[in-house]
Amino acid sequence: MYGILDSSEPSESNQKAENQLETLRTDVDRIDDGILCLLSERRDVARQIAAEKRKAERPFRDDTREEQLLIERLAAAGRYDLEPDLVSRVWEQIMADSLRVQFDYVQSTVNGRRDSISIAIQGVEGANSHRAALALTPDMNEREFVSCTRFGDAVAAVRDGQANIAVLPIENTTSGAIAEVYDLLLDSKLSIVGEVKLKVKHCLVAVEGASLSDIKTIHGHPQAVAQSTDFLAGLADVEVIYASDTALSARRIAEIDSPTVAAIASEQAADIYGLDILVSGINNREANFTRFVAIAASPVTVDPQVPSKTSLVLSVSNEPGSLAEVLNAFRAEGIPLVKLESRPTIGNAWQEMFYMDFEGNSADLGVQRVLEEVRRHTMYLRVLGTYPSRDLRPHRRPSPASEPVISVSTPGPAPRPDAELDGPYRLAGRKNTENETVVDINGVVIGGPDLVMIAGPCAVESIDQVMKTAKAVKEAGAKLLRGGCFKPRTSPYSFQGLGWEGLDMLAEAGRVYGMPIVTEVLAPEHVEKMVEKTDVLQIGTRSMQNFALLTEAGRANKPVLLKRGMSASIDEFLQAAEYILAGGNQRVILCERGIRTFETSSRNTLDLTAVPVLRRRTHLPVVVDPSHAAGDRDLVKPLALAGAAIGAHGIMVEVHPEPEKALSDGPQSLTFDDFRDLMGALART
Ligand code: PEP
Ligand code: MN
Repeated sequence: MYGILDSSEPSESNQKAENQLETLRTDVDRIDDGILCLLSERRDVARQIAAEKRKAERPFRDDTREEQLLIERLAAAGRYDLEPDLVSRVWEQIMADSLRVQFDYVQSTVNGRRDSISIAIQGVEGANSHRAALALTPDMNEREFVSCTRFGDAVAAVRDGQANIAVLPIENTTSGAIAEVYDLLLDSKLSIVGEVKLKVKHCLVAVEGASLSDIKTIHGHPQAVAQSTDFLAGLADVEVIYASDTALSARRIAEIDSPTVAAIASEQAADIYGLDILVSGINNREANFTRFVAIAASPVTVDPQVPSKTSLVLSVSNEPGSLAEVLNAFRAEGIPLVKLESRPTIGNAWQEMFYMDFEGNSADLGVQRVLEEVRRHTMYLRVLGTYPSRDLRPHRRPSPASEPVISVSTPGPAPRPDAELDGPYRLAGRKNTENETVVDINGVVIGGPDLVMIAGPCAVESIDQVMKTAKAVKEAGAKLLRGGCFKPRTSPYSFQGLGWEGLDMLAEAGRVYGMPIVTEVLAPEHVEKMVEKTDVLQIGTRSMQNFALLTEAGRANKPVLLKRGMSASIDEFLQAAEYILAGGNQRVILCERGIRTFETSSRNTLDLTAVPVLRRRTHLPVVVDPSHAAGDRDLVKPLALAGAAIGAHGIMVEVHPEPEKALSDGPQSLTFDDFRDLMGALART
């Protein structure tokens, strides 16, 4: 029966059917084109509606109208003989697109318009980061790409002003978080300003004519390899060579030009480098998505009506249940958390940094309430940024009080929406009488009911000196060991301290006698190394307004003992603390150490009034240093007793085995006997 069919000579009826099919296909093409044309027209109208709504100060989302329209469309479905299910699915997509168009319009009016942008990416053209960058900047007329070898280079390009933004992958649905990018976010001062999720399809590509059975070597990015392990496991005797990005591996094998070499790359990369696709979609999971973030030097403002996400990085306090308290704060305000990731921290073994993403805008009052509560349970907290989110969920109204925060079309860096919202000390200020910051330094608690004694030499001079002092003060009841290693001296000819070598001696004494150590950090560039060696970073009186140093200390995950500037008002003192808190570091201890007055009978004047004033204005713990205030050992005991009596949480004094031989501040240093006497007197009060 089949034998009589000759395909080379179509029968007349066949030919007719073919012609009819052709006509119908042309009709379908015309209709499809019409649908697309209408969709595009619809988008234009949606954009115009957005502009009018903005002028009329009308909200962009109107739940009742959205529902009403759906009901009308479903009624129309019946008239056109279409299933309601089909209509509601198509309608949902159309509405989502319309909302996105409107949100994009609103958002483009908030931070000032830009026609051209320079984008740093890890990888070359055709890399997934390149695709993500295109998706993140759809309306940009001109894009310049700064192609970097490592993620860190892309971050540096933004920091150094070579690029406006960097686009980096942060997590993948198959291989998980990209740890290096998380760590870079913590270390850099940059903000997250956008995100995009891309479906990533990996292909095995090779030069023309190559076949799978001949492949001996595969070049691939570690992430691409990790996402394609099932496919790779099925290949025998194949060597994997890691490359720094997927597109680069494609380019490389095009250069090698051998039928035994393949690469894991995208379809786009295969196209760009003229390669054949041997196997398409080799990723373990078909649904393989990567989330990319855009980071920039300054944060962006997100219009309160645009769905947004906020990212945080924090470390919780040592109290049991702190993380649960943080999570509860979000639950109490009904804010959905969408991501929680943890990373180990440098210099604090087993103390994790948590990264959290939640739905909401940091300018929203509800979000600010949550952040205030979260701050109480954290040692470190930094908002990495609020950015528009494309994950449209059912509408959440911003809390009404946040609506006036809309700022319109300001060119250049966006103003921080949350600046100056509640007085000068947003973070340091006391909000109520109960919440006190308690700083836990490896088990030594400052800010609680117990008076903490901090003692040690002005400067570390030798291992013998610091060991002897540590032993004496520990036995007498000191809890923290102090000692300067980088000394801020008035004269350049005075002893400047033993530097890092001295710090190793102090750390050794602290270890032997079981006392956490406190030492002064003088330079912003020393902070990172100091964090690894000391338990408390001291910022001295001469550095209280070194804002670069305060900013660095704010990024550190170590308690800071901030001394009052010798000519600083209490207000300036608290503003300096604010710098550290705003940088993320929540563990700040204030230290009153005497100020300059007309009085010459003591080195400085101990401002005892500052103690109750500070206790009233701030929740931060307050320590008194009578040694530097007095400049005279005989005055140290009465001033220390007064400090304790007036409500200080701790007393810091200088102690030396032989004060007359001290290389700095000998006249105010206590002998071991003096220190024991002081401890006895304090115990009797
Ligand atoms: C110190 O405590 O070592 C010190 C230098 O103090 P101040 O910064 O208060 O002078
Ligand atoms: Mn001193």
